[in-house]
Amino acid sequence: MVRYVYDFAEGGRELDGLLGGKGANLAEMTRLGLPVPPGFVITTEACRAFLATGAEPDGMFRDVSEHLSALEEGARRRLGHPDDPLLVSVRSGARFSMPGMMETVLDIGLNDASVLGLAEASGNERFAWDSYRRLVQMFGSTVMSVDTALFERALTTLKEDRGVRDDVHLGTEDLAELVEAYRRLIHDETGEGFPQSPAEQLRRAILAVFRSWNGERARLYRRREHIPDDLGTAVTVQRMVYGNLGSDSGSGVAFTRDPATGRPGLYGDYLPDAQGEDVVAGIRNTVPLTDLQHLDPRSYRQLLEHMRTLERHYRDLCDIEFTIERGTLWILQTRVGKRTAEAAFAIAAELTDEGLITQDEALARVGGDGLARLMFPRFDTSATPDALAHGIPASPGAAVGAAVLDSAEAVRRAAEGRQVILVRQETTPDDLPGMIAAQAVLTSRGGKTSHAAVVARGMGKVCVCGAEELTLDTGHRRFTTGDGTVVEEGAVISVDGSAGAVYAGAVPLVDSPLMRHLETGEQPAGTVRDVARALERADGVRRLEVRANADTPEDAARARRFGAQGIGLCRTEHMFLGDRRKLVEEMILARTDREREHALDTLLPLQRQDFAGILEAMDGLPVTIRLLDPPLHEFLPDRTDLAVRIAAAEAHGEQPDPHDTRLLDAVGRMHEANPMLGLRGVRLGLVVPGLVAMQVRAVAEAVVERTRAGGDPHAEIMVPLVGDVTEIRLVRGEVEGVLAAVGEEYGAPVRCPVGTMIELPRAALTAGRIAEEADFFSFGTNDLTQTTWGFSRDDVESAFFSAYLDKGVFDTSPFETLDRSGVGRLVGIAVAEGRATRPDLKIGVCGEHGGDPESVHFFHAAGLDYVSCSPFRVPVARLEAGRAAIVTGDGDTTA
Ligand code: PEP
Ligand code: MG
Repeated sequence: MVRYVYDFAEGGRELDGLLGGKGANLAEMTRLGLPVPPGFVITTEACRAFLATGAEPDGMFRDVSEHLSALEEGARRRLGHPDDPLLVSVRSGARFSMPGMMETVLDIGLNDASVLGLAEASGNERFAWDSYRRLVQMFGSTVMSVDTALFERALTTLKEDRGVRDDVHLGTEDLAELVEAYRRLIHDETGEGFPQSPAEQLRRAILAVFRSWNGERARLYRRREHIPDDLGTAVTVQRMVYGNLGSDSGSGVAFTRDPATGRPGLYGDYLPDAQGEDVVAGIRNTVPLTDLQHLDPRSYRQLLEHMRTLERHYRDLCDIEFTIERGTLWILQTRVGKRTAEAAFAIAAELTDEGLITQDEALARVGGDGLARLMFPRFDTSATPDALAHGIPASPGAAVGAAVLDSAEAVRRAAEGRQVILVRQETTPDDLPGMIAAQAVLTSRGGKTSHAAVVARGMGKVCVCGAEELTLDTGHRRFTTGDGTVVEEGAVISVDGSAGAVYAGAVPLVDSPLMRHLETGEQPAGTVRDVARALERADGVRRLEVRANADTPEDAARARRFGAQGIGLCRTEHMFLGDRRKLVEEMILARTDREREHALDTLLPLQRQDFAGILEAMDGLPVTIRLLDPPLHEFLPDRTDLAVRIAAAEAHGEQPDPHDTRLLDAVGRMHEANPMLGLRGVRLGLVVPGLVAMQVRAVAEAVVERTRAGGDPHAEIMVPLVGDVTEIRLVRGEVEGVLAAVGEEYGAPVRCPVGTMIELPRAALTAGRIAEEADFFSFGTNDLTQTTWGFSRDDVESAFFSAYLDKGVFDTSPFETLDRSGVGRLVGIAVAEGRATRPDLKIGVCGEHGGDPESVHFFHAAGLDYVSCSPFRVPVARLEAGRAAIVTGDGDTTA
């Protein structure tokens, strides 16, 4: 029989798929003997069944009431009993943390009778009525769908009526009146009353949490974080404990290490006389956790002890929510904490040194996206004016953009392609679209654990929070700094999330320390050293080689400094631009063989020079040179420009330039409706006489030149856009003829492997035949994605991909992350059939996917020999190739 409910004492963190992260960790802490208020978890399986059918699965509420009875027995109190009632919280908790994106209902069990019991038992009437009004409001909005703004309005009206500014100045009578007002409101809006039955409250709250899995916020967050839509959320039902019972109570959040830098120490925020929600919402400013040492030394000591236990047990940074109820410490939640990229590398290195994790575990805990972020530039503050304001450095990085004061405005401006900084007093889950759209988030309230900080860190966005000197005036669309400077919405500001500083205008950028280390080999220190260690480990265990896509000696040299083991794609098209465009024109317009040969002969030494420079920069390493790929008319002037020029001449009664007329004629002849599917790639080589021969001769002569200079050149020749074995056979014949001729002329054989790109579905499907003629394969996954999906790679991303992402056709562009089930299948077929023909076939990838972390894992698993990517992605690919090897367990994992 399926079980839908687990007591905290029954589960553990291994059940996170079923109990959600929160539920599984509560169970784990219960197992560890930590002071966790008792409770139980309704599984994600129950949620999935509910979402699929619209009804709770059979037996679920029977299980819930059995567990509730056990909870009541343990507490010696009954849910909502008029004398001293048991009250519970009902919270969401998916497998992956989705902070604040789903619903929570607290104080379930309060009604007109039990509120009096609570007042009596707690000895605090005001607290009881405050809890009741919170329940009615939360239940009314979350479960009964009444607009939250209506509750806010009722509260404001009452405060105005009483002449008070703050909720805390409302007395018991006022709160009782507010409960009445809320209940009337619910009745007017829904036609039904606030349910007095505790069992009904519990039941409806559980179902509302289930439903909140599909709320707009939650869906948006999942899309952004690539969390699958079909996981569902678990629901935890837990005995309430109260941090708002006076000065001997409070709530806080603690980290076992600094989540921004990863350095050891005690980090967190504490808010005396408050509920946990108040801390995260950033509504009131918290005190540093270390202040608790004076406020409540006993709880402080216990908390430190539990933090140590948790970090040792989880062997990772833990983030902990706790409540102190009249001097008794309760742990309400823990999870392996979200952290910045910098912190991820630092923690991995330190835990390895402490012997808590192995080098491979350390490698598994860092990632290429974080590494890429650490390569981003930083602000050059040497020439910077004074900061406008300082706040808490909650998520590092440098961001420049126009200040905007609400989420909608951020989304609107970002949609126009502008960079914005979202400036808010504090953020709520409703600000998520604006946070996604913005380059950085700046708040005037809240600590490192506020919503803004937690969400920004999770997204890798720059964030400064709690910049208290700022006063926001959303009405006039501006904010004021401590010294009275007024910053209007739209003004450009710079936010330094590493230093916690905000500047007026756009501060210039400089290389990050990691970039300096990679570029110059400068001795690594701090985070850079931690990154270098991870890269070293990755290099030690990875099976995939990493090459770079580079087509100038400078790029080749940089790629080499970044650790590239060769060039996987040297595109030759840029070598036909600039001054050389004239020669290409000449070649295209040639009327005789002599004219064409003249053009090609002039291009030859220039190409030879290009290749010699690159081979020198990559001396000793393979350099894969691709024959010309794009359609030739890309090298000719624009058709409309030519036509206008000719028409203008004619309009002035002049004779148009005959060169223009010939060019227009050629452009007209060569016009293609779908150039990407037209005369390009290998097809060019087969129909434009002399082109292949010129390029190959340039390569061969460069090889000779480098060898004579004492170098060790390893050129490889790659043929693009092959769809049939005959194409490569024909080109290969020509290539070998030229190599042999050059060898003979210079008196030394020139050997270059000749391979092909696999970038058409037909090439993948006939790879067995193609391998007969190819020494190596390199997947051109840009074109392969284009032709497999039938997506024009130059058009679709801006045209309709956002609609496709919204509708869930895919959750990342297939041009960014390889589409495993479609394009990936073709890759699999080509690898298998190519190697069946030629077991030693060298296979790589040189499309953009070669530097995408998730795709690198796919290529590792598909058995490729190397990935090739842009020079700046080389460190990312090295790291991910190492991670792929340890995740699939076939790397060299000796510690
Ligand atoms: C490819 O198609 O993936 C590729 C690397 O070639 P290009 O992007 O130059 O077409
Ligand atoms: Mg291509």
